[in-house]
Amino acid sequence: MKTFPELVQTLRETRNLPDPELKALLEHQGPDEVLFQAADKTRREIYGDEVYIRGLIEFTNYCRNNCYYCGIRRDNKNAERYRLSQEEILDCCEEGYALGFRTFVLQGGEDPYYTDARICAIVTEIRRRFPDCAITLSIGEKSRESYQAFFDAGANRYLLRHETASEPHYRSLHPDGMQLSNRKRCLYDLKEIGYQVGSGFMVGSPGQTTECIIQDLRFLQDLQPDMIGIGPYITHPDTPFAACPSGSVDLTLRLVAVLRLMFPYALLPATTALGTLHPLGRELGLKAGANVVMPNLSPVSVRKLYELYENKICTGEEAAQCRGCLERRVDSAGYQIVTAIGNVKRESAGERG
Ligand code: SAH
Repeated sequence: MKTFPELVQTLRETRNLPDPELKALLEHQGPDEVLFQAADKTRREIYGDEVYIRGLIEFTNYCRNNCYYCGIRRDNKNAERYRLSQEEILDCCEEGYALGFRTFVLQGGEDPYYTDARICAIVTEIRRRFPDCAITLSIGEKSRESYQAFFDAGANRYLLRHETASEPHYRSLHPDGMQLSNRKRCLYDLKEIGYQVGSGFMVGSPGQTTECIIQDLRFLQDLQPDMIGIGPYITHPDTPFAACPSGSVDLTLRLVAVLRLMFPYALLPATTALGTLHPLGRELGLKAGANVVMPNLSPVSVRKLYELYENKICTGEEAAQCRGCLERRVDSAGYQIVTAIGNVKRESAGERG
C-alpha cells in the first residue's frame, strides 16, 4: 500500500485513485498538511489566489419536502416561515451590486408559492437590471421544462446537491416520495440545458460511511459538475435527527482538498456550515483548496429564520459588514476576493497531459 504522501501525489497527477486507495486516503490518521499543500498548488495553478464571491439571497423558507436533517423541513412547526417579495429580492441585488457582487444566488425551500411564472418574472427582472451578473438558482427538484424556462428567462447556474449517491443512505435521509434517481435526473437535465451546474453533499450526515463518500466522488466524476459544495452536516434540534452528532471539520477539509485534486477546475465554496463549526472554518477551507465564498445578502430580519441547522453564523450582520469581514478573512488566509463574475474555467482539449 502506498504511503499518504504517495497517495496524495498520485491523486494530484492522475486526478483519480482506485477505491481501496481512496479509502486509505479518506481514513488516514494524522496531519493533512501534505494533502492541503498539494491541493493549494493545484488551485493556484488554475485560479491563482482569486476567491470569487456569490451573494446569497435566501428568499423563502417554506418547503414542501421533509428531509430528516433539515431545519426548514415541512413538519418543523417551530420554524417561523417567511417569503421575500420580488421587490425585496431586487433590493438585495441592488445592495449586493453596489458592494461588488456579480453573482446572485437565489436559494430557498421548495415553495409552491413560487410558481414557474413567478420565478421567471424574478429572473427576467434581475437579468434586465443587472445584465453583467450571473443568476444562480438553488430551488430544488423541478421538471426539465421548468429548468428550461428559468434558463430562457436568464438564469445561468443552478445549485442542487445530490446529498448522497448511495441509494440506501439516501433512503435513510429522506422520506418516501423523494428519489435519488430524480435528483440525479435533475442534475443531468440542468447540464444538458446549458447551466453551469453545482452538486455536492453533506459530510458526516447520519449513517454516512467512507463507502458512501467514495460513491459520492464516483458520481461527481460521472456528472463532472462545474461547482461542488460540501459542508459538514450540523444538527438541528427540531428534526428527527436532533440526537445525531454534527459532522467533522477535519474530514470536510480533507474532502475539499481531495475534490480540488480530483476536479482541478471546479469552483469549490468554503461553506457557511464550515464556518459555523469552526471560527476559522472558511479560512481553512480556502487553504485546503476552496476558491469561492458565499456571503449572505438576505435582509437581516429573515437571516435567523433560514435555519437549516443550529447556530448558523452571520445572521446579525448587514451585507456590507459581511463583505468587509470576509475580505479580511480571505486576505488573512493568503488569498484575495475578486469581484469578477467568476465563471468556471474549463480545460481545453490539449491541456490535459
Ligand atoms: N431546496 C434547495 C436548497 C436546500 S438548502 C435544494 O433542495 O437544493 C441547501 C443545502 O443545505 C442542502 O442541499 C443541504 O446539503 C444543506 N443542509 C440542509 N440541512 C443541513 C444541515 N442540517 N446541516 C448542514 N447542511 C444542511
